[in-house]
Amino acid sequence: MEKRVFTGSFTQQESLPEAAIEAAIAVMRTGRLHRYNLAEGEVGEVAHLEEEFAAFTGAKYALAVASGGYAMSCALRALGVGPGDKVLSNGFTLAPVPGAIASVGAEPVFVETTEALTIDLDDLSRRVVDSGAKVLLLSHMRGHICDMDRLMRICDAAGVAVIEDCAHTMGAAWNGVPSGRHGLIGCYSTQTYKHINSGEGGLVISDDPEVMARAVLLSGSYMLYPRHTASPPVETFEKVKWATPNVSGRMDHLRAAILRVQLADLPRQVARWNDLYTTVEDGLRNTPGLAVIKRDARESIVGSSIQFRLPGAAPTTIATVLRGCAARGVELKWFGAEEPVAFTSRYDSWRYAPPQSLPRTDAILAGLIDMRLPLTFSVADAGLIAEIIRDEVMAAMPRVAE
Ligand SMILES: *Cc1c(COP(=O)(O)O)cnc(C)c1O
Repeated sequence: MEKRVFTGSFTQQESLPEAAIEAAIAVMRTGRLHRYNLAEGEVGEVAHLEEEFAAFTGAKYALAVASGGYAMSCALRALGVGPGDKVLSNGFTLAPVPGAIASVGAEPVFVETTEALTIDLDDLSRRVVDSGAKVLLLSHMRGHICDMDRLMRICDAAGVAVIEDCAHTMGAAWNGVPSGRHGLIGCYSTQTYKHINSGEGGLVISDDPEVMARAVLLSGSYMLYPRHTASPPVETFEKVKWATPNVSGRMDHLRAAILRVQLADLPRQVARWNDLYTTVEDGLRNTPGLAVIKRDARESIVGSSIQFRLPGAAPTTIATVLRGCAARGVELKWFGAEEPVAFTSRYDSWRYAPPQSLPRTDAILAGLIDMRLPLTFSVADAGLIAEIIRDEVMAAMPRVAE
């Protein structure tokens, strides 16, 4: 039988909605792109986006910034993290996460990974004590959310402040509480490959007035902070404004305008992503040699990518699966490859950090495969992709006795 081939692109996003394009054109017609360049009585697109994002997440305060990476480094600075400080983080995440820690001169302390691809809470409990770190930059890598109730108990008991990296969990929740609302600060990315798309961009949320006042000043507010509408009262700024440096990383009206339209539509997009995700997951279930990632019933996900494991498979077998799938149009990434290709997600690729050994993370990443699910795919596409992966895994696996 002829082998079926998939012809879609794994990196092609949908076009922006017409309403977003019109909103962008309206901003360009005014010539006022800088967030503090406002007409008399005007609130501006950036401040409106911040109000709407605060409402969307239920946070008191929100700040729009230049990128997700900037959001995280700004959060660390707002907590006073500086040179030589230790910051706990995931051994499995994306390079901007340890990069944010390094950008303030701090030292990452990586924590082990579970089979559910979440931070290992037993290991976290140990490392909280051993490291003496006072901050955890927690990454919900690829949208996998750990038991946040238990994580917060561990961190609260040890006086560890939690910053959540929600680059892959905008629109997701744990136990009914939006991702980003468990810790002290939530950070988001609006980069093209995340859940709302402005090319580059980020958001910071918090309920803590002083933390948010510092974040606003850090982002480069030139003492124009009274123009923020989703931020603490001006009195809070009085306390911190002389001691907080300007590390410019603002968002502009053009990006905010296109994000506002997309944010309003996010719940519908989440439902579409989850249809793709469950279709692929169902198609892969019960494939010999392949383990789907277990999701907790308390997790409310955004399935914008999917992962699966080939536990115990030899590197040559994995390479065969990847080659077989690629030949049929299905682009997979392997987190276990010796040399990072196109991205880095393993703690041992970040050699500016002190070397650490995380054997459980190594074992999991050795068999971990990753695939994007852009919304340009249909549910039928998702079904075909799962069929191709299933075929190729079964063909590559050494035969087991019947
Ligand atoms: C994309 C991403 C970020 C932020 O990235 P930017 O490109 O700086 O917006 C942070 N964490 C994770 C896990 C990411 O994938």
